[in-house]
Amino acid sequence: MSEVVRHGEHDSAQSSAVRPLSAWGVVTAGQANYYWVRLDTGEFSTQPGSAQPILCTRRARLKKLGQQVLVGDRVQVEEFDWQDHRGAIAAVAPRKTALDRPPVANVDQILLMFALEQPTLDPLQLSRFLVKSESTGIPVSLCLNKRDLLTDAEVLDWQRRLQAWGYEPLMTSLIKADQLEMRRQFQNRITVVAGPSGVGKSSLINCLIPQEDVRTSAVSGKLGRGRHTTRHVELFELSETGFIADTPGFNQPDMTCPPEALGHCFPEIRTRLTEGHCQFSNCLHRDEPGCAVRGSWERYAHYLALLEDAIQHQQSLGQRRDMETAEKVKIGEAGQVQHEPKLEAKKYRRVSRRSRNQNLQELRYDLSDVADLERLDDELF
Ligand code: GDP
Ligand code: ZN
Repeated sequence: MSEVVRHGEHDSAQSSAVRPLSAWGVVTAGQANYYWVRLDTGEFSTQPGSAQPILCTRRARLKKLGQQVLVGDRVQVEEFDWQDHRGAIAAVAPRKTALDRPPVANVDQILLMFALEQPTLDPLQLSRFLVKSESTGIPVSLCLNKRDLLTDAEVLDWQRRLQAWGYEPLMTSLIKADQLEMRRQFQNRITVVAGPSGVGKSSLINCLIPQEDVRTSAVSGKLGRGRHTTRHVELFELSETGFIADTPGFNQPDMTCPPEALGHCFPEIRTRLTEGHCQFSNCLHRDEPGCAVRGSWERYAHYLALLEDAIQHQQSLGQRRDMETAEKVKIGEAGQVQHEPKLEAKKYRRVSRRSRNQNLQELRYDLSDVADLERLDDELF
């Protein structure tokens, strides 16, 4: 360390401590223009979980650059005021990943949680959440909770079924307190927990994080609000040095992923496409000839159902865009506004075998749309 500064006697508790002029840490919460940063090292972080976060603003230079700061970002903090635990964020490290909803940077894994019973596990709903999670490109772990409500044979059946889907689910019961195995899942990682309501997400977070920490956490503690009444994301630090975030307000996920990308969100399709290939590179795996994906595997019906949703979503996006950018607005004689609809290219209509070849060009995916969709896909969770 080249630059250090010593603070005077007024700071009696740590008067002999040598403190750095700048230090790196993780943003654990943010609100308005304030960020709470958990420093990697230093006297405020000698013990994981016990460190007090530093309340930071963003340095003017970052604001000018338009550099956003997200929860999960690794940041460099300067201008410390150690007495008030304050500082200023001077730099943001490049992000490994960035989720839109919840807005969290550097997420290492999505832990998707479902209950085996209460509510009864609906396979199509599970697929929907799995696809949504996979579409982020972030590794997905699956946890099937409430195993205490099923017989061992039934649990085994689900396990085998999910293995055939390409997943290795962790079967848990939070009331039997067998989360020890789970704890390992969170070490040294930033995890976002997702899943429908009632499956045990809050129970998991509450048993991983001491209640005290939740109550006195940065956002809920400082602003006097409960964790569940705020829409802000917050990372909770685990004693195993990981961080975990809840996904408040996570409902039925939309299929915002481009139809051509949907197949990549199914492990079964990824496997089929490494073992063989479809005749057409833009195959949607419906009724195209020479398709390596179509077949009698369990989730093929889920794929077709979600594909329809994805196509519908894309068409409605296209219509919205057309309305916004290409719609002609005429003012009628009586001053009334008239909209002239623009005809839409039917990119995803089913084509007859006869006209397939001449329509291939039409079916080809428009790459500019991919970029647009990624930008517009602000509904990840
Ligand atoms: P969340 O909506 O996903 O956060 O779910 P909660 O954590 O609030 O849990 C919903 C209900 O399921 C609560 O009544 C929990 O006590 C119960 N629950 C959580 N985990 C288990 C479990 O492993 N087994 C059983 N039987 N109930 C559980
Ligand atoms: Zn195909």
